[in-house]
Amino acid sequence: MHGVDKWYGDFHALKGVTLEVRRGEKIVLCGPSGSGKSTLIRCINHLETIQKGRIVVDGIALDDSARAVDAVRREVGMVFQSFNLFPHMTVLENCTLAPMRVRGTKKAEAEAIARRYLERVRIGEQAGKYPAQLSGGQQQRVAIARALCMEPKVMLFDEPTSALDPEMVKEVLDTMIGLARDGMTMVCVTHEMGFARQVADRVIFMADGAILEEAAPEAFFRSPQHPRARTFLGEIL
Ligand code: ATP
Ligand code: MG
Repeated sequence: MHGVDKWYGDFHALKGVTLEVRRGEKIVLCGPSGSGKSTLIRCINHLETIQKGRIVVDGIALDDSARAVDAVRREVGMVFQSFNLFPHMTVLENCTLAPMRVRGTKKAEAEAIARRYLERVRIGEQAGKYPAQLSGGQQQRVAIARALCMEPKVMLFDEPTSALDPEMVKEVLDTMIGLARDGMTMVCVTHEMGFARQVADRVIFMADGAILEEAAPEAFFRSPQHPRARTFLGEIL
């Protein structure tokens, strides 16, 4: 994205944000509440519209046309803080719905793909259950598998572990680490700084709708340059 400005009414939520993510790169996005982290990643798959600037995903320029929006959303998987699974569908049905509806994949093939990704997030045996029958950590892993079933080129995560009980955080982070090792391009909003150290190629610090600092994780945690980044790290570490 280049020179992106986003307003909610007269509130200026993103102020000239430029961010380039390379294929295979892992970005951790952090910053205080209200700094625009969710807004930024939601703009990437057009869950929010922008008023200025340019967003290009894998060569597709994201204008407001339905065609561009559909094309981009096929490439982009998203996982939210609240898992957003369909409660009236089984785990397997949650995972096959979009491939069948959006990609026109046949049911048997969609199920085979879904089972493969459910195995990969180590939840294959739960395929017939409903979301309410699973723990939070399991639900979030299903949400990750569901996104992967669309075989996206990039995965966006918006605080995927912050709604979880502490004992379930690790299983979700381990799933994300596995995905990173397999070479997925990832943009993760998270305050899990252990994850950032282990996985991120770059940490990006936002405040007040702007990127104030970006650095390799070691450098960022050792010696944050911007005073606001120092304050922020002082509060969370
Ligand atoms: P958090 O860490 O709390 O999730 P964030 O960095 O993700 O914060 P955003 O959710 O992107 O922050 O919000 C950035 C700013 O935009 C906030 O001040 C918020 O109040 C405002 N905002 C977000 N969504 C809307 C909306 N739909 N309408 C109006 N203002 C909004
Ligand atoms: Mg947010």
